[in-house]
Amino acid sequence: MTPNPEIRTRFAPSPTGYLHIGGARTTLYNWLFARRHGGTFVLRIEDTDEVRSTADSVTAILDSISWLGLDWDEGPLDFEREKGPHASYYQMKRLASYQEHTKRLLDEGTAYPCYCAKEETDAVRKEAQAKGQPMPEDPCRRLSEAKRKEHEAAGRKAAVRFIMPDEGETIVDDLIRGKVHFENRLAPDLVIQKTTGGPTYNFACVCDDHAMAISHVIRGDEHLSNTPAQLRLYEALGWKPPKFAHLSMILGPDGTKLSKRHGATSVLEYRDQGFLPEALRNYLALLGWSNTESKQLFSPEELVKAFDLPGCQKNPATFDPVKLAWMNGEYMRALAPAEIVKRAEPFLKKAGLFPPPPGPSLERLAALEREKFKLLPDVPGRVDFFYRETELTDKARKTLSAPEAKPVLAGLAGLLASFEPFTEKPLEEAIRGFCAARALKPGQVFHPLRAAVSGRADGPTLFLMLELMGRETVVARLRGAMSKLGQS
Ligand code: GLU
Repeated sequence: MTPNPEIRTRFAPSPTGYLHIGGARTTLYNWLFARRHGGTFVLRIEDTDEVRSTADSVTAILDSISWLGLDWDEGPLDFEREKGPHASYYQMKRLASYQEHTKRLLDEGTAYPCYCAKEETDAVRKEAQAKGQPMPEDPCRRLSEAKRKEHEAAGRKAAVRFIMPDEGETIVDDLIRGKVHFENRLAPDLVIQKTTGGPTYNFACVCDDHAMAISHVIRGDEHLSNTPAQLRLYEALGWKPPKFAHLSMILGPDGTKLSKRHGATSVLEYRDQGFLPEALRNYLALLGWSNTESKQLFSPEELVKAFDLPGCQKNPATFDPVKLAWMNGEYMRALAPAEIVKRAEPFLKKAGLFPPPPGPSLERLAALEREKFKLLPDVPGRVDFFYRETELTDKARKTLSAPEAKPVLAGLAGLLASFEPFTEKPLEEAIRGFCAARALKPGQVFHPLRAAVSGRADGPTLFLMLELMGRETVVARLRGAMSKLGQS
């Protein structure tokens, strides 16, 4: 791909929480768009909310993006190190530039200091908005020099407001939504600098998107309503605005906005539940974007090739956990057994199975059960009984409590105690012979046998399972089950 310096996208999270599904999708689409066009993907931390921004959140966001397998060309590497020609990519380290631009707008008369208490102006504006009335003019817009001085002398701190036009409309020409019209009379003068001296989101965002030469702003649709004011700022500052693309909202399966009520919403929760990053990434790619072939499974390279903004839908996308789980299963099945074990290591460790106790190799077991894994914790969950006795499932308990189970187990323990060679085919022949000799149906023998040695009613193919467990374990488990039955 020939590098294209014209294409620059960015993800600009506010570090006030974890990276959630919506933010992850925004990151992915920005990344895909940049990669597809040979452009640059920038990560910028919008940490101007001094109260809610935290270092833990920055770490969680960086970890989440890295875990998803997405890389950024410019941005913070951690708290000390950053890469890229526009550093710093932390807004709190760029305060001087915002102040400089604010000063310029003040000098040019397109912004003014506002001494009103926020609560007062908010209340007046809310009322006008609720009634669909034009915004009342801010009393500070035409403040006399004398009044200004009076406020200053009284020690009142000023915010800075940017003058929005009172009439006409501002049109956002969105790459996904087309032209969206906003009536100017409904928009209040925009606070660009807080009384603390720090910038507001809308202002810092415009200054940085310009300074970082961002060509495409791809973000969640909750920011569509911020765009007209941002466009006015570009105009006042004499800067060319980027192109905008606002992504559809994400709903939960019940049709309401995706939230905690619908289960895990943070990327790291998905990691901790044992999803594969490539599966979540593939799933997120389809959450609001579709391709003409209705293809579902994409390698990262295929996605980079196929993704583009015209395929992004306007209508809300519905997050479907069932489809995500299906997709994860597909990705699990495609992994080599050794890779499954590697990915499942944290879950195997938690279950006390890593390093593996004596017994069959984890790779062998992963190969055996591969078709059934949906999530990484299924790996210990489906193979643990090879290494240790596990609690009986209800079904297995029921099978074993049937009166005919005990003599079957006793007979099998006798048959297998010195059976040689303890391998799949000879075991199958001998056990089928055992059924025939006692005029038992295979199920009458296979079910209690499986329940006694594995503690469950389903699992890997029976005779191979016995081979892998080994004679000693199989016979010990048969005897153990018999003695438990004897006690009950
Ligand atoms: N900091 C904003 C947020 O986290 C970014 C909005 C934007 O992309 O412009 O919602």
